[in-house]
Amino acid sequence: RFITFEGIDGAGKSTHHTWMVEYLRAKGHDVVSTREPGGTPLGEKLRGLLLSESMDLETEAMLMFAARREHIVKVIEPALATGQWVVSDRFTDASFAYQGGGRGLAKTKLQQLEIWVQEDLQPNLTFLFDLDVATATKRLQGTGQSADRFEQEKADFFERVRQAYLDRAKEFPLRFRVIDASLSIAETHKLLENIILSDC
Ligand code: C5P
Repeated sequence: RFITFEGIDGAGKSTHHTWMVEYLRAKGHDVVSTREPGGTPLGEKLRGLLLSESMDLETEAMLMFAARREHIVKVIEPALATGQWVVSDRFTDASFAYQGGGRGLAKTKLQQLEIWVQEDLQPNLTFLFDLDVATATKRLQGTGQSADRFEQEKADFFERVRQAYLDRAKEFPLRFRVIDASLSIAETHKLLENIILSDC
């Protein structure tokens, strides 16, 4: 199975991604834990460029999808073919949310890249951690980590990203589960466990 974790910066998805990987391993599943942008040696190099260099929006989208292609061909598909679970911190929905909603790249262009790069591969399940932007920003400030160029964006950018994620969830209700990211960590893990037990 292929499970993805999505949400705006500060919504807590990476914490829950780490927990889910450990939870599934404890249940005896063979799990590949991965992330985007990244997930392969070349993908991690592209991530470094994407997070530090300013660039043309279409260049940015194509580099995201180039990293994704490498990730799919080298990691995701081989793992799924041998029956492993793949749990990824972000995938294509992030491109629709950030490059599309946040930065304004036409959805039709993203759809073309999605078809080209993914063919018919889609996650079986996508957790969207939804949180209001003010709370997410406060959480990020609390981490003390230095912000990458995307995290330096303003609140209205993250409002658009959040809305684009919610639009994706509405468009693909079968695979999306929208999680209220204001819940406590313990409540969230209970919720995730129930979803995994009933859906997988
Ligand atoms: O998920 P993570 O925090 O590792 O993502 C790194 C940065 O890349 C984040 O600031 C995120 O907003 C940004 N990003 C992006 N477009 C994507 C995926 C991630 O702008 N498609």
